[in-house]
Parts: sequence; structure tokens; C-alpha cells
Amino acid sequence: MENLLFEAGRCLKCKKPRCQMHCPIYTSVPEVITLFEEGKIHEAGQILFENNPLSAICAIVCPHEDQCLGNCIRGIKSEPVRFCDIEAYISKQYLEELTIEKEAFNGKRVAVVGSGPAGITAAMLLAKKGYGVTMFELHDRIGGVLSYGIPEFRLPRKLVEDLENKLIQLGVSIKYNTLVGPVITVDKLLSDGYDAIFVGTGVWNPKTLNIKGETLPHAHYAIDYLKNPKSYRLGKKVVVIGAGNVAMDAARSAKYYGAEEVHICYRRGEESMTATKAEIHEAKEEGVLFTLYKSPVEITPEGVVFATTQTVTDEEGNTKLITVPDSEELMPCDSVIIAVSQAPKSNIVSGTTGLETKYGLLVTDELGHTTKEGVFACGDVVSGAKTVIAAVVAAKKVSQSIDDYLQM
Ligand SMILES: Cc1cc2nc3c(=O)[nH]c(=O)nc-3n(C[C@H](O)[C@H](O)[C@H](O)COP(=O)(O)OP(=O)(O)OC[C@H]3O[C@@H](n4cnc5c(N)ncnc54)[C@H](O)[C@@H]3O)c2cc1C
Repeated sequence: MENLLFEAGRCLKCKKPRCQMHCPIYTSVPEVITLFEEGKIHEAGQILFENNPLSAICAIVCPHEDQCLGNCIRGIKSEPVRFCDIEAYISKQYLEELTIEKEAFNGKRVAVVGSGPAGITAAMLLAKKGYGVTMFELHDRIGGVLSYGIPEFRLPRKLVEDLENKLIQLGVSIKYNTLVGPVITVDKLLSDGYDAIFVGTGVWNPKTLNIKGETLPHAHYAIDYLKNPKSYRLGKKVVVIGAGNVAMDAARSAKYYGAEEVHICYRRGEESMTATKAEIHEAKEEGVLFTLYKSPVEITPEGVVFATTQTVTDEEGNTKLITVPDSEELMPCDSVIIAVSQAPKSNIVSGTTGLETKYGLLVTDELGHTTKEGVFACGDVVSGAKTVIAAVVAAKKVSQSIDDYLQM
């Protein structure tokens, strides 16, 4: 707490706060810091929660280096103010104590399909407004990537449980272990009397490398592995292919659960990696090794055959990546984890008439209307793999659209 007060004291309370301007949900950073310094933790928590119901989570998992932290004016000459740590402290405490008020039942019912950041936000905002909300979740816990993707050592599951308790307090009915699509279709939900449907089902199909050997017993997709890393026996040496945050989480989890040697293998240089600098730093600190300029050619029972790559610049100054001829070499390993992005599963779409998609993603307008009357969508299933805060921002807007639609 003393450290946090010291940190708060370093904030310059800028008139045009760049931290706030670069926050996707426009968090009132200086106002919250001022209240925190005055000891008004509850008031500060309220401002954060009313603006972002997942504030306690975003304070931990947002790519802060691109947002508040990376844009703090203090960071130009010294260390930026770590507002995220202050937000995490306030929001955790506020969430534990909070009892959410809601309006009386207004007679309308909404089905929320998927309980990730988008679904949680929509369910909470609509339940507060008096809608009868039923949440359908294919897993036995809510949270989506927060529970079945981001490792527990990065995000305490208690925070998701606290959110779940708030939803239950608000009267949201949660149907666990329930897949919407093949048997319970969206059309069936509509004919059962739900007045609107919110779809926030995320992206859960791994993209493949399209090389030989991806189905071998020791090859796994990161998105599957991260659902329950404890159940895998990866062996001593693990190769992770990819360079985004999912690859970092897979590599760090492999190390955390006992692998001795873990390599992130990537076909370009570190500057091209899409993972945040913070995640790359953590992975290195934990002993993950980075093997760069290696492109996978084939997965064999003994490991992965990689070709060496190189960036070359042509006469016009354009750079491109080329494979060095005859450079193929086996990198022996016990397990391979493939982490090269995700796409949506087609459950919802294949079982529903009239829902249009593009590249597998649901097509919506800016306000979240899909091509089917009464059906709305947002989050990764619309935008493709993005961030927690992007899903929350979109779900705030789409909940308002649902409210407008149902009040017509
Ligand atoms: C490993 C990993 C690490 C990440 N780390 C970060 C990070 O540190 N910071 C960050 O900001 N972002 C991170 N992201 C991205 C972020 O988590 C997502 O952008 C965000 O979770 C998207 O929210 P969503 O609600 O759209 O989808 P999801 O979180 O994917 O939730 C979708 C939910 O829908 C359920 N569902 C799917 N289909 C059906 C169906 N047919 N019927 C019923 N339920 C269904 C799923 O089980 C799931 O619970 C990470 C992603 C991954 C995969």
C-alpha cells in the first residue's frame, strides 16, 4: 500500500492525460489516483467498475506498455507511473465488497452465449437494467480465455469467481456445460421466447502450420494445451512455434509445469514478435530460450525440422524473408506446441439460418447487429483474436444496442 501511495504521488495529474487518452476504455486515471491518495478507495473503485466491469482483470492482463504505462509522461525521462498496480489494488478490493443494484425485471429475456470478457460484460450490464439474462457456457466454469487460456500464475482465478458471484447476485442464470449450436440452436433460443441473443463465443479453433506431422502424438495446439496444462506430459524438451502472447503463455506454462528446456522458435527476429515486451521479458526471466529465424518444415517423431530464414533487402529497399537453401535441420524435442493464432469454431453458424460470416468471423455492423434479426455479437468472434479490453469495450456498446432494440 505504501508503495502504491508513493507511485500515486508521482502522477503529474496532466490536464490532457495521455494515459487516459490511450486507454481503450478511457479510464479516468488522474481522478482515480486523486481519490486513492485521499483514501477514498470505494469511490475510486466505483468509478473504475462503472466504466469497466472487468477493471480488476484488465489491471493485470492489459498490454499496458501500449496503453496507460507506455504513454505516461513520466516515462519520457524516467519510469512511468504504474497506474495498473494501483487499479489492480482498488478494483480487487471493490469487487470483493460490491453489491450491485439492479432495476426491477422488465419482462424481457436475453440469452448470452459465451461467458468470456464479452459475455460477462453484456450479461452484467443487461441484468443491471432489469433484463432476465441466461448465460450459456460450454465449459464448466465461466471466463472463456480468462479461465481456459491465460495461465493461473498470471491471472488469479479468484477474480473470475468474484465476477461469477456478482452475476449470480444479479440474478443471471448460468447454464454450464451447454454448447449452443448443434442441438440447442440460436433459432431454438428465439422460439423459446428469448427476445434477443448476444453471441460472444470467441475464437477457439487453432490455426495450423499446414506442415506434415501436426497430428503426431507429441504435437499440440497451444489453445488446447492451455485449457489444462497440468494434464499434459510434455517431457524434458519442448519446442513452441509462434511469437505472440499465446506462444509466451504456452512456453511459460511448459516451464512452470516442469519442462527443463523450452524454446520459442520463430521465423523472424525479436523486433517482429507480436507478444508484448513484458511477456517476452517474463518468459526470458523464467529461462525460456528464443531460437529465431527458424521456419518449421516438418514435425517428426524425433522433433521439428526447421529451415533457416533470413531477411534480405532488394535494390528498391524492400525487405523480405527468404529461406536459406539446404538449411534444413532437425531440432530434437519431446513435445511441440503450435501457437500461430486462432479462428472461431463454426458451431453457432452451422446450426443457425441467416447468420453471415466473413473468413469464419461473424459479420456485424458497428452496433453489433448480425445479419439475423434479434441476434447481436461482439468480441473475438467478430473482430478475430484481440484483447480482453477490446471485448469489454465492444460489449458495452452492443449491450446498449440490445437495450435500444428491446425498448423499441
Ligand atoms: C492464451 C491466451 C492468452 C491471452 N492473453 C491475453 C492478455 O494477457 N491480455 C489480453 O488483453 N488479452 C489476452 N488474450 C486475448 C483475450 O483473452 C481475448 O481477446 C478475449 O478473451 C476475447 O473475449 P471473448 O469474450 O470475445 O471470447 P472468449 O474469452 O474466447 O470467450 C468465449 C466463451 O464462449 C464459450 N463458447 C464458445 N462457443 C460456444 C458455444 N457454441 N456455446 C456456448 N459457449 C460457447 C467459450 O467456452 C468461452 O467461454 C489471450 C488469449 C489467449 C488465447
